[in-house]
Amino acid sequence: EKPYIEVKNLRKYFQLSRKEILKAVDDVSFIINKGETVGLVGESGCGKSTTGRCLVKLYEPTAGSIFLEGNDINLFNKKGKGEFCKKVQMIFQNPYASLNPRMTISEIIGEGIKEHNTISDKELKEQVYSLLELVGLNKEHVNRFPHEFSGGQRQRIGIARALSVRPEFIVCDEPISALDVSIQAQVVNMLLQFQRDMGLTYLFIAHDLSMVKYVSHRIAVMYLGSIIEYTDSAELYKNPIHPYTKALLSSIPVADPNLQASRRRIIIEGDVPSPVNPPDCCKFVDRCKYAKSVCFETRPALKEISSQHYAACHLY
Ligand code: SF4
Ligand code: MG
Repeated sequence: EKPYIEVKNLRKYFQLSRKEILKAVDDVSFIINKGETVGLVGESGCGKSTTGRCLVKLYEPTAGSIFLEGNDINLFNKKGKGEFCKKVQMIFQNPYASLNPRMTISEIIGEGIKEHNTISDKELKEQVYSLLELVGLNKEHVNRFPHEFSGGQRQRIGIARALSVRPEFIVCDEPISALDVSIQAQVVNMLLQFQRDMGLTYLFIAHDLSMVKYVSHRIAVMYLGSIIEYTDSAELYKNPIHPYTKALLSSIPVADPNLQASRRRIIIEGDVPSPVNPPDCCKFVDRCKYAKSVCFETRPALKEISSQHYAACHLY
């Protein structure tokens, strides 16, 4: 059976000048099964959002393909594109910047419904009301503007907007990282509940490994445009393979004191190198304490190290 989504050798390059190419996404492949959440994790600038934007067709890939139920999303005709836009939605990191300040909540949430359906004003109003109710917002506030809401409420509006077209798949691009810690769990729990109730499939983007653990079935760790480790969520936390994943994991607190002791904090030396004209070798080489000569010479491929556990490192 075909995976629900298949990303194959995806590349997204930005030509900055005649000689400089920013390789934001540099040969990335993974699959997402229907109804599951894949976490995509890495430091800022590693290409996670760019990958997400390619998946919802906000960006056109430089090379490679993305298949939705076996169909290449960049080869859709007009009708196919319309159906795609209903099936696939995005929730953005900054709920304020992603909401039009001149539109009321009713207009923001109703826009997609009107675009895809022939519907009376009364029906539209009812649908907007029930979406507001679904995300826990007061329907009396339907004619207010985004600036009249708190950050958490704005993200709920963003979620209602994404759900308005009854999508199957949502790219959640750091949906909680701009929110107060006190309301992060509420928003995550809401997303999890909608996944259960509506059978949604998620790509959940995050900059560290703390929250993704609770939401993801599988996790891909990205570094400078490449996936460097990819496996089942529980396996990744129990058995990290790549030196970069180990360092990322060591920086999140764990409840079990024994585990915490065995996982002394690993400080990654140096800054994240630039994704502009990256060297043709291991991209982590400048920051890795295990680097050996081969690491400076060739780029390690993503290989299956143990069953369903993939890593890109010459140590294995
Ligand atoms: Fe470190 Fe070499 Fe593995 Fe890269 S390939 S992570 S430099 S050991
Ligand atoms: Mg981002």
